[in-house]
Parts: sequence; C-alpha cells; structure tokens
Amino acid sequence: MADIKINNMIKFYTLCLLASKPKHGYELMKELEERLGIRISASHVYPFLSILRKNKLIKFDKVGKRDKKSYTLTHKGRNFTNHMFTKFGDLINIAIKPKISICPCGCMIYSGGYTEKVKGKVMKFCCSHCAKMHQPK
Ligand SMILES: [Zn+2]
Repeated sequence: MADIKINNMIKFYTLCLLASKPKHGYELMKELEERLGIRISASHVYPFLSILRKNKLIKFDKVGKRDKKSYTLTHKGRNFTNHMFTKFGDLINIAIKPKISICPCGCMIYSGGYTEKVKGKVMKFCCSHCAKMHQPK
C-alpha cells in the first residue's frame, strides 16, 4: 500500500472524483470548488497530483490540441482508493451506529421507522407489519 497521507478533504475529494472518472486538472479544480464550497487554486491540487503520479497511483494521457492532461487512476490507484473508502466507511459506521435502531426482524433502521407500544413499552420497528407480528395475540 502506498504511503500517502489523506489528511484533508481536498485530497480525499480529489481521489473520489478521479475514482468516478478521468479528469483534467482544471475540471478537477472546478468540481472541488463546487463540492467543497471553497476557492481552489492550482497549489491545492497539482502538488498532490504529482505525489500520486510518483507513487504510480495515477497516470495521465494527453488529450486534444491544447495538450490538456487527463488524469486517470491506475490499477494500484484503484486499490488505494478502495482501501481508503473502506476505512472511511468504517468511520462513518462508528459515527452513525448509536443512531441506528434494530427492528426485531433484524432490519437496521437508519431513519424514520415505525413506533408502536408493545405491552406498554414503546418499541421501534422497520414497518407496521413487523409491529403487528410482535403484538401479543
Ligand atoms: Zn422489521
């Protein structure tokens, strides 16, 4: 695994955007601005791109007359981003887990759900059918 620190949102988003499809540097900057809502300058993006390239996580193809470079993740780059997404996913899970309720059927309820009293106790279910199943007959 390449030893690259993804220690800010710009780097994280850069990799996310490149994982979705190959992009020109300029395109990348524009999309980062839109998504992060901050001014992005070349110095936010190009030094990181050159680190990625040195570590063989991205390659670029020259496209068009004006010699625009299109950056693409390499196979190694894909592995790296997948690994990063998994780690990030674990973090998200830790953050949202306390907010999840589990229906007696085993469904995880992220939001909404169905609340009903069972034997005087308020319980949460994924749907009214599950609630009905748990009512004493
Ligand atoms: Zn259920």
